[in-house]
Amino acid sequence: MRILIVEDDEDLSRQLKQMFKDAGYAVDVANDGEEGHYLGDTEPYDAVVLDLGLPSIDGVSVLQKWRADGKTFPVIILTARDQWSEKVAGFDAGADDYLTKPFHTEELMARLRALMRRASGHSTDTIEIGDLTVDNRAARAFVDGMAIKLTSHEFRLLSYMASHKGRVISRTELVEHIYDQDFDRDSNTIEVFVGRLRRKIGTDRIETVRGLGYRLIDPNGNVA
Ligand code: CA
Repeated sequence: MRILIVEDDEDLSRQLKQMFKDAGYAVDVANDGEEGHYLGDTEPYDAVVLDLGLPSIDGVSVLQKWRADGKTFPVIILTARDQWSEKVAGFDAGADDYLTKPFHTEELMARLRALMRRASGHSTDTIEIGDLTVDNRAARAFVDGMAIKLTSHEFRLLSYMASHKGRVISRTELVEHIYDQDFDRDSNTIEVFVGRLRRKIGTDRIETVRGLGYRLIDPNGNVA
């Protein structure tokens, strides 16, 4: 899963970036409204954290532009204390949730997870495909109850496929959702990651659909 943080307080944005990376997400950061709008306009994020008080273009206007252009990713807005009218403007512009500063980073994380869960149609942080369990809260995976040791990229790949289980996912889509902007992206590396993941969770759990992409299946070959 890939997240965008638009926040001009650089200490806060750095802290959030590290926290989300540690939790297994690919993360991009923009420190003003213009750059934030551009990134959200051109990259397919799974969720966005949007501060409302921003240089160049304010957060509400950024959000209005995205929604007018048909961007549907979940957005949580960060508002100043006691600015109830900001919250109303944010929701009217298409926000899905809000947090008032200062906040506990764990709460932001939990709210964002809830938004992504809802967006992908799951009711819990834990997704099961046969005896494979992907725990998006703990950023861990298990096969038949045994923990599997995965790198952050392997986990992101598995987590994205599990969150969209039942669907064939193209290499391009995987590239867009597991790497951040700064990563040297090459869709051939996806094959390498899929190969490594297959060795760790079981070769036949990831089906290659020729010319289309990959799909998670259970050990009996059933589409999850
Ligand atoms: Ca601000």
